[in-house]
Amino acid sequence: MLLSLIVPCYNEQEALPLLYKSVTAVLSEMECSYELILVNDGSADDTLSVMKRLAEKDDHVLYLSFSRNFGKEAAMYAGFCNARGDYVAVMDADMQDPPVLLPEMLHILEQGEYDSVATRRVSRAGEPLVRSWFARMFYRLINKISDADIVDGARDFRMMKREMADAVVSMGEYNRFSKGIFGWVGFRTFWLEYENAERVAGETKWSFWKLFRYAVDGIINFSQTPLSIASWFGMFMTFFSFLMLIFIVVRRLVFGDPVAGWASTVCVVIFIGGIQMFCLGIMGQYIAKTYMESKKRPHCIISETNMEDAKKIL
Ligand code: UDP
Ligand code: MG
Repeated sequence: MLLSLIVPCYNEQEALPLLYKSVTAVLSEMECSYELILVNDGSADDTLSVMKRLAEKDDHVLYLSFSRNFGKEAAMYAGFCNARGDYVAVMDADMQDPPVLLPEMLHILEQGEYDSVATRRVSRAGEPLVRSWFARMFYRLINKISDADIVDGARDFRMMKREMADAVVSMGEYNRFSKGIFGWVGFRTFWLEYENAERVAGETKWSFWKLFRYAVDGIINFSQTPLSIASWFGMFMTFFSFLMLIFIVVRRLVFGDPVAGWASTVCVVIFIGGIQMFCLGIMGQYIAKTYMESKKRPHCIISETNMEDAKKIL
């Protein structure tokens, strides 16, 4: 029985040796054999040479190195496509996902009742308040308008059976949003909870805007609801303007026609123009996604690896 552990790494030269040490300590105690798949997501620092050094002295270590930075989602996808294990797990390189949970996860899967073990953090301690607030709003919104079950505080730290990993690989969409994909494929999932931990080294790779874009992507990838906003606005406006029409006709008949109200007219025109632009923008977002999907570009390109028969263009 083989366990594949996928670790996406972007500029993690300091964290990687620490991660390797603690993961190896945990995995070598376990009964199953394992492979550690390190994915170098076009790091600008020495991450790749650290990986090569680790791979040289330990043949559990496999590395896949991208030709440039393709993003964490692409890195995870590359790992999934090349993982050979009966069980597949993903974790971050910065030790925010405690490796000590791995044996427990495997144990739960082996009992056969669940197909995947996912983790969620119960606190957002150590995170900026604004960011936590936006995150909470995002989860509330996306769960209302999408049919994929997306859990607040869910990490990408998970372990799953081969069947589920195959399902994840089969979702070959270009715009990937893993939390949505894991929820969409279904399967019986057990949730483990743990407290948020600080990064051991390096800095977070997510700025507020990068996260914001990611959230918008998540919504657009897993919900068609925003598309219907235009129709709702349209229906509401038609109804409202019909009432106004009646009001104005009656007023004209009763009071005559004094010239007034040009300011309010301009306000209404601008208001409606604004709503139209907003709705056009939403449609633009979906069209842009469709455009990218229709190009069928690869998710990532692997330029260096020590894995024989690795799929290099994914
Ligand atoms: N990561 C990546 N490519 C990127 C950004 C991040 O592979 O473009 C990796 C990063 O090395 C880490 C994981 O994704 O292993 C999570 O990133 P980070 O810890 O910066 O995110 P946070 O935990 O702050 O959400
Ligand atoms: Mg992190």
